[in-house]
Formats: sequence, C-alpha cells, structure tokens
Amino acid sequence: MQNACPECAGDLTVFEDAAPWCGRCEWNLDAFAPVDGGWAARAVARLDRRAGFRAGRALVALGESAVSRRATAGFVVLVAVSVLLTAGLLVTAGIGVWLIATGRLLPPILLGGVLIGLAVLLRPRLGRLGHAVDGGWTLPADSAVAALVSRIADATGAPRPHVIVADLRWNASAAVVGLRRTRVLRLGVPLLLALDDQHQVAVIGHELGHLKHDDSLRTLVTMPARTVFGRLAQYTTLPPGDAVDRGLEGVLALAYSAVQLVMGTLSWLFWTLHLGLHLIGAAEQRRAEIHADLIAARAAGHRAALESLDVLALASRLS
Ligand SMILES: [Zn+2]
Ligand SMILES: [Zn+2]
Repeated sequence: MQNACPECAGDLTVFEDAAPWCGRCEWNLDAFAPVDGGWAARAVARLDRRAGFRAGRALVALGESAVSRRATAGFVVLVAVSVLLTAGLLVTAGIGVWLIATGRLLPPILLGGVLIGLAVLLRPRLGRLGHAVDGGWTLPADSAVAALVSRIADATGAPRPHVIVADLRWNASAAVVGLRRTRVLRLGVPLLLALDDQHQVAVIGHELGHLKHDDSLRTLVTMPARTVFGRLAQYTTLPPGDAVDRGLEGVLALAYSAVQLVMGTLSWLFWTLHLGLHLIGAAEQRRAEIHADLIAARAAGHRAALESLDVLALASRLS
C-alpha cells in the first residue's frame, strides 16, 4: 500500500527527493524537503513554505475576486500606518532641531542630534538610479530588445521604461526610482536566452504590467509600514553574548544584563510588528503579481504566459 493515498486511496506521485503526494486530493502536497541550517532556519523555512502553500490554495479559492482592482483593507491599513509613521518621523526630526536650536547644555543638543539621525535612518527611500542600473549594462534606445519592449508596452497600454538594463541574472524586474521617478526595466540575459520568443514577450509583459499598475507607487506609499519597524528591530538587536562573555563584573554586569533585557524585549516587539505588517502586505503583493500576469497573458497569450511561469519556477535550479 506504499503508493496509495491514505486519504482517498488514489495513486501517489513520487518525484526525485520530494515527499510523495496525492494529485487527486492534494494530500502531503505541503510537505517539503528539509533545508540546511540550524533549527531556527529550518523552522522559518518550513513555516514560510506552509504559508506559501496555504496562500496558493486561498488564491485558487478566491477565483475572479482575486483580480479586483479595489484597494484591500490590508492596503488601507498599511497606508494609514505609513502616514502615522511619517508624521512621527517628522515630529522626531522637528524636536531634534528644536533641542539643538534652543539647547544651552550639551546633553539636550546631543539628544537633538540623535533624534535627527534616527529620523534620517528611518526615512522612506525613493531608490537611486545608480543603484538600479548597478552591475548591468544600459541598452541603447535603438537596440532590438528596446524595440521589442516598446512594442509590448504599446500593445498592453503600459508605459515605456526610460532605461533598460541587461544583467547576468536569472531574473527580470521593473522599478521606478529617484525623485524624477525613472522607470527602469532589468532583464537577465541568461533568462531571456532560456526562453523562446513568445515566453520572452510574456516575461517582459509581466514586468511592464508592474509599471502599468504603478506598483512602485503602491510600494512607496506603504514603505514606512514595511521598513521602519524592521530597521528599529535591527538597531535594538545587541550582538550575541552575555555580561560574562563581555568580561563584565559586579554592577557593570548587572547593568549590561538589564540593558540586554530591555533591548531584547524592544527588538522582539519591533520584529513582531514588522512581521505582522508584512503578513498584511503579502496579500497585496500577491495581487500585484496576478495583475502583472494578466498583462503578460494580454501580451503573449495565456498559454505562453503560463508556460513562462513554469520556466521561471525552474530558474532557481538552473542558476
Ligand atoms: Zn488523495
Ligand atoms: Zn512580478
């Protein structure tokens, strides 16, 4: 009975080193080969994969409503949190300036400097063009690839990218960066070479879909909610090791332990908030991918769009 499903008695599928699963009732489809690393890394990977599997199932159950363009409650929450955080950063910087301007003693002036520094570190970032083209080659506007990208953009109603960058990654991406909101399309040459013509159109169509739906703007207006608590968690994490490891004794050891306790609790709190906001944001991100896939299908046809997804799923094994 080794090859029968314990749930529905259907045939089990066995593939390479993966745990066997049932294609009929999806039994054991959420079992994954263990990853390398410590128990924490393995637990995170396991939870991550389970969550991904559940999300995929929920997506199938959503059906048509998954493609609605209405703002989700999650998106509204992220924008509201971002507005509050941005206001908080401005107030923090303002108090810092006030402390420095009115301070006559050193401590308030130093505190003012710390507050301004914190606000600067936590600020939302627009991204830089230099960084977006880093490690790649900018393609000339009269290149064959640029002509193809323009045709796909025109056919799908997506805006043309200002800059097209070729690199050596098994990936493609689109972003809008800098104060002037420059649209950058990055295309990995190995990925393009592995795809046939129609699949290339689908992949480029998908990335242009992100530009058409202005996903960068959606990312920007939710950025404080998705980054501030993560950075705070990072800044409040002390290096590993206790007072004894640091060679501290007596009162100093006690003080260090107290600092560790306070900082550890703060860090855990920030990290939990960060994780919670990302869980809310994940649904929004999935919707953005679905909408980009719809543009891919409009550009290259449903069949090529689906096939290109299969090739992309294999890319991590090829790279
Ligand atoms: Zn079954
Ligand atoms: Zn995408």
